[in-house]
Amino acid sequence: MSKPVCIPELFGTDVFNESTMKQYLSAEAYGAWKHCIENDNPLTLDVANEIAEAMKLWATEKGATHYTHWFQPMTGITAEKHDSFITPVGEGKVIMEFSGKELIRGEPDASSFPSGGLRATFEARGYTAWDPTAFAFVKDGSLYIPTCFFSYTGDALDKKTPLLRSIDEVSREAVRILRLFGDLDTKHVRVSVGAEQEYFLIPKSFYAQREDLRLTGRTLFGATPPKGQELDDHYFGTIRTRVSNFMRDLDEQLWRLGVLSKTKHNEGAPCQHELAPIFTDASNACDANQLIMMVMKKCAAKHDLVCLLHEKPFAGVNGSGKHNNWSLCTDAGKNLFNPGKTPRQNAQFLVFLAAFIKGIDEYQELLRCSVAFAGNDHRLGAHEAPPAIISIFLGDELTAVVDSIINGANYKDPEKSLMRVGVDVMPVLPKDTTDRNRTSPVAFTGNKFEFRMLGSSQSIADPNIALNTIMAEELRGFAEILENAEDFDATLQKLVCDTLTAHQRIIFNGNGYSEEWQQEAARRGLSNLSSTAKALPTYISQKNIDLVTKHGIFTEDEFHARYEIYMEAYNKLINIEARTMVDMVMHQILPAAIRYSSDLSDGIIRKQNATGGAVTAKTEVSLVSRISQRIDSLYEKIETLYSDLKSVPAETDRAMAYYSDVVVPAMAEIRKDADFLEKLTAKSYWPYPTYSDILFY
Ligand code: ADP
Ligand code: MG
Repeated sequence: MSKPVCIPELFGTDVFNESTMKQYLSAEAYGAWKHCIENDNPLTLDVANEIAEAMKLWATEKGATHYTHWFQPMTGITAEKHDSFITPVGEGKVIMEFSGKELIRGEPDASSFPSGGLRATFEARGYTAWDPTAFAFVKDGSLYIPTCFFSYTGDALDKKTPLLRSIDEVSREAVRILRLFGDLDTKHVRVSVGAEQEYFLIPKSFYAQREDLRLTGRTLFGATPPKGQELDDHYFGTIRTRVSNFMRDLDEQLWRLGVLSKTKHNEGAPCQHELAPIFTDASNACDANQLIMMVMKKCAAKHDLVCLLHEKPFAGVNGSGKHNNWSLCTDAGKNLFNPGKTPRQNAQFLVFLAAFIKGIDEYQELLRCSVAFAGNDHRLGAHEAPPAIISIFLGDELTAVVDSIINGANYKDPEKSLMRVGVDVMPVLPKDTTDRNRTSPVAFTGNKFEFRMLGSSQSIADPNIALNTIMAEELRGFAEILENAEDFDATLQKLVCDTLTAHQRIIFNGNGYSEEWQQEAARRGLSNLSSTAKALPTYISQKNIDLVTKHGIFTEDEFHARYEIYMEAYNKLINIEARTMVDMVMHQILPAAIRYSSDLSDGIIRKQNATGGAVTAKTEVSLVSRISQRIDSLYEKIETLYSDLKSVPAETDRAMAYYSDVVVPAMAEIRKDADFLEKLTAKSYWPYPTYSDILFY
């Protein structure tokens, strides 16, 4: 056992958080910062200078020598460029300096980050601006300053800026609704997010031997092992020592960084695990999730493990996703998805619920696109993750309430006419029974919605931008109707009833994995965008452009840039995967199979010679012939893929369709042959660790 640590003392020690600020800043500077984040005011340079000086003092005491503006470009991961604090003072000496200007603004070269056409090539400059609502922290000898990233012309080049914009939007519209229900105190409504993170951990030595894992993050080949996850012996199973040491280390590092890491357990697949933090505000949750992924990777390396964040590292066993738990909460801490105790509170809850249901129904495609990328195509609809069809699970109790509003039938008493919004009290909704349907993409779990389609590797920014913006739009529509109502109660009743009636098709409590649901969803007219290539073209529909521009989340150019970047990312990734396949087949798989079959052939001849032809070596002959057939088939397919890759159309959108329709199916066929060869070839000949080596080490 390592020595015990005092968690409350350890927690947040590497974060320049509020209590550290109080300690290191003058009361005036601290007050100015607080005022700035509460009222969205800019800081004066004097205050910024004082904060910078304090940050530097604190960071250098913690051993930091550098600072970095930390940002979240449109790649979905984070970026950092480190500058040291040193400033020459003559006579060959330096001092450690850090100014308010350096804190507030950075100028990284933007040309290496995707811009989707937002930045002309002659203007490579990009700017980072400190986000004072997110705390700076020290990691690996550097002071990390969370920032937003934008171009010379002011276009957002990152995921953080639109996320912050969407948080503001939904807050403003939600406050409008609260005012109508007599809440005059709430200034801000916060978006609460808790993102559960799944991941795989495998021994580094195996990883190092697999080119596919190293280059693409997933195995492109691998025959099904004799044992998979059918025994269900891994989920919540005992955690092996090497892994639990990793987890302890990981938790400690995350706690130091102020990340509220709470739950850890084994997941369904062998070598798969999950970490869930306690929910926090969406912007922080987004940063924290990036930190979690980053620290997981680094920490694994320390323990001679590799952390795989890919959505589908191994075929045939469950892949990894993220569950995005999302709710709205007043600055006083009241959850707006809590049904409440009085008819008034219920009515308010039903307004937020109806807005959510309407929004998800109307903007299914936008939500679907927020989780559309190559890695996630392996999971969605594959009976381990929700289908590609968006629907909402409400649970029996809440569905009964919705039905009674729609049908005019009383939930409690069929004799009475209907559940009257704002007059009748709703039944108490049980928190645990509501969340047991894991096949639903969006589930109401007592006082929050759980969006379960996210891939494990993705930034949670995009799905939350979509959720916030959709919600802002619907609340705005509702506010406009209710603010102008002559008879508030009657208008409210009609609004909720009409909305639920019009959008009830999106509610589905059954088995989302079933074939019947596919058909039923089609009958209901729900969209079923089964792949990235099918989903992305819907992203830039006029409806979505109108939505995001109206709320100032993206300009039309910014929105188009995202579309370009998502397509480019897909195309590049499939291209790398295909070329890695060609490489592995030509340099590893074919040579191994050929060597084995030629050794077998030599053996056949030797056997026959030794026995004067009396022994036929039937088994070897059969093996050689089966292997040879597969070798020929595989080689032919590789040749075809190789030439297919030369005919990829130049336009991004046509290239995406081509990769999806031609290259991806060709890769699946190649894999079949290669995996068959793995099964036929002696283990000592096989060039890399197999699934059983890796998953059952
Ligand atoms: P599970 O989904 O595994 O049953 P929980 O429902 O307890 O687990 O919580 C899952 C995640 O949801 C956690 O990160 C938790 O902090 C978060 N969460 C809980 N309540 C809320 C809320 N009101 N808003 C957003 N996230 C929440
Ligand atoms: Mg969950």
